[in-house]
Amino acid sequence: MGSKVYFTDMTTDSRRNLLDKTRQLAEKAGLADIIKKRDLVAIKVHFGELGNIAYLPPPIIRVIVEMVKERGGKPFLTDANTLYGGKRHNAVDHIETAMKNGFAYETVGAPIVIADGLRGADFANVTVEGKHFKSVKISSAIHYADALVAVSHVKGHELFGFGGALKNLGMGCGSPAGKQTMHSDLIPKVDQEKCIACGVCIERCPVNAIDRVEKKKAFIKEELCIGCGECVAFCPSRAIPINWKTDETVIQEKTAEYAWGVVKKKKGKSSFINFIMNVTPDCDCVSWNDLPIVPDLGILASLDPVAIDQASLDLVNKAPITVNSVLGEHKDSGDKFRAVHNKNTSHILDHGECLKMGSRNYELESLWLRQNKKEHN
Ligand code: SF4
Ligand code: SF4
Repeated sequence: MGSKVYFTDMTTDSRRNLLDKTRQLAEKAGLADIIKKRDLVAIKVHFGELGNIAYLPPPIIRVIVEMVKERGGKPFLTDANTLYGGKRHNAVDHIETAMKNGFAYETVGAPIVIADGLRGADFANVTVEGKHFKSVKISSAIHYADALVAVSHVKGHELFGFGGALKNLGMGCGSPAGKQTMHSDLIPKVDQEKCIACGVCIERCPVNAIDRVEKKKAFIKEELCIGCGECVAFCPSRAIPINWKTDETVIQEKTAEYAWGVVKKKKGKSSFINFIMNVTPDCDCVSWNDLPIVPDLGILASLDPVAIDQASLDLVNKAPITVNSVLGEHKDSGDKFRAVHNKNTSHILDHGECLKMGSRNYELESLWLRQNKKEHN
């Protein structure tokens, strides 16, 4: 028998709106049971890039906040800074973006703590002994929280095919330098034209692999560099370009290892809720949101991050395609996210299973569906 995943659809009536359903599903799946009095509880969300309006709406997040508070926990909303520039690259911009997107305390009922600090330097090295990483850089506020509720928006992603709980945990909880190492092993290079000789990269490099050319601009001694990504993440003038060159299998495995680094120390203290709504072809990191590829399908909750993603993927693949979406011309595409991005959507789940983070086998219990309302009321 597989891991238990609870599901409800998006149908509502006067007795139970979507917020009620979110709350009841979370309770049923045991999401609240992981919380003890005075636990600091990280609610991992994505605040959405400016211009994107498909991210999960703040009132839904408030339901989770209230649930945590009722159990005596102390919730905070969190995400890590991005590797790329944009509006979530440091804590100030990130919080401003979150506010503009509606995540004010008055709306969600909890403070925002950017998980890796002002500039992404606050992380814990967590040993994972994976295929690619011996240790991973997990953002401090998430690592040191007593419990974790990962709230994930299921949607497409250009590198992973789709993003759900594992992507939210792995790429979403890694520090910017960690994100660089997930993207690429390549040794970075300094663009001498852009370098302003500030020396930040020299201070950050853990192995003294960076020196100055004639006591001024920086250069990287390739033979010493361990590819940790710190200089890329911290260069203030973007003189050390982000290396996006990546192998799709490798990035998925690396991201699963980061996800494992997030949850391995939180056995019995982490839980997952996925929303299959606004299933846009692209991630909430982009500043637009195209037409969803399938109708809004529902909400899933589980204590297994692999199972919940597998169940989410299966539900999307069984759903009809939205007319006029990017999938419009695919009559029967099977794996819909693969049809959009031409990526192997299940490799991250395979690797998550290999790491013993969870199981791709699951047992789906459906509650409060329109067709079986009588059974479960
Ligand atoms: S951090 Fe960037 S700008 Fe500063 S010395 Fe290093 S490469 Fe040059
Ligand atoms: S990637 Fe890491 S080890 Fe290599 S030069 Fe940059 S900071 Fe140093």
